[in-house]
Parts: sequence; C-alpha cells; structure tokens
Amino acid sequence: MANIAENIKLLQSTLPANVSLIAVSKFHPVDALMQAYNAGQRVFGESRAQELVQKASAMPSDVEWHFIGHLQTNKLKMVVPLVKMIHSIDSEKLLIAVNEEATKVNKIVNVLLEVHVAQEETKFGFSEAECHEIAESGLLDSLKNVRVCGVMGMATNTDDEDEIRVEFMKIHSIFKALKKGVMAQCEWFKEISMGMSDDWHIAIDEGSTMVRIGSSIFGVREY
Ligand SMILES: *Cc1c(COP(=O)(O)O)cnc(C)c1O
Repeated sequence: MANIAENIKLLQSTLPANVSLIAVSKFHPVDALMQAYNAGQRVFGESRAQELVQKASAMPSDVEWHFIGHLQTNKLKMVVPLVKMIHSIDSEKLLIAVNEEATKVNKIVNVLLEVHVAQEETKFGFSEAECHEIAESGLLDSLKNVRVCGVMGMATNTDDEDEIRVEFMKIHSIFKALKKGVMAQCEWFKEISMGMSDDWHIAIDEGSTMVRIGSSIFGVREY
C-alpha cells in the first residue's frame, strides 16, 4: 500500500517553489484522492472524461482539475465545465472546439500545446513547426475563451537518461522559441508541463514548471 499522504508531503517539500505538482489520479479510487487532498493536495490530473466527471462530483469543490489525456471533441461537453487546464491540446481542431465549448459555458480554459518529441509514434502532439504555425496564424487572438499558457510534452519511455534529457531540452527549446517570438507579449505563456514519476528530476533540471506524477504518489495503477 502506498502511503499517499507521506508521498505528497515529501514531493511538496522536494519540488522547487516554481514547480507545481499535478497529482495524476487516473485509475485510482476517490478515497485515494481524498488521502492526497487531506495532505494538502488540490491539483489533480485525469485522462478520461467519464472518470473525471465521476471524481469531480465526489471530491470537494475546491479541487483544481487538469485534463492530461488524449481528448476527443465529443467529450468536451463533459470535460470543459470541470477543468482549469487541458494539457493535451494536440490539434487545431481540438483547440477551436475547446474554445467553442468554453464560450457556451462562459468560462476561460487554460490550455497547453502538446509537443511531440519522443521516439514513439503512439504519442500525440505537434511538431515544433506546427506550434509556430498555430501561434503565428492569428488564430489564438480570435479564440477568446482559451488561454494558451505554454507547452506540454512526454519523453520516450526508456531507461536511457541521456535520451530523456535531450527530449526535455527539446521541449524547453520549443517553449523558448515561442516565448521569444510570437508569444512574447503573452503574459500567461509561461508553463512547461513535463516530468512523470520516473523522470521528473530530469524534467526539473531542464526547466519544467509543472510535473504530472501518478505512481510515485498513489502506487502502481491496475488497469
Ligand atoms: C499517466 C500519466 C502521467 C503520470 O504517470 P506516472 O508515471 O504514473 O507518474 C503523466 N502524464 C500523462 C500524460 C499521463 O497519461
């Protein structure tokens, strides 16, 4: 059994002050989330729409929900009203659809552009060139109900730490190029969401501002 409260407290005291902790609670039951909540954790990450809806209705209302998984536009009606941030914007179509849904419910949703830097084809996200295309197209100015707050990425699932580091450096450099260029005037463009249970130390070395940690808090997921 994972000692969830202890894991949360240890992480909170270890992470640099400028790095926020997203407790990735997918596949874990509400009572596990409550243990984290009672240890002071307020930001939780989920990756499936239905599961998010169930947990949001069961958890206290001051929880801040972040959606981190691949998102289909037909799930937005469920997801958009509940979330503070969507980390996994991986197409222009999705970004536009999030804006539409957010407009309907009269809220502003923070989003991150997911960038694809890993070796695996299975991972989603934009290339660096595609990020620039979106940012330079003028589209973002017209989407009044989404705020692009930065980028999110995942490293290859490998034991090769050098490979992981190079990929996190790549994510950081994509962020920096946008920040220096077309996003320079955007005050809220400041987040780099990278780092999971096995690689968050490296991610923080390489400039992460948000780590998404599941197993190291809640234990191994049973799918
Ligand atoms: C599941 C998941 C995590 C957390 O992974 P752990 O290895 O359990 O820390 C982080 N980010 C995304 C996008 C995930 O799907």
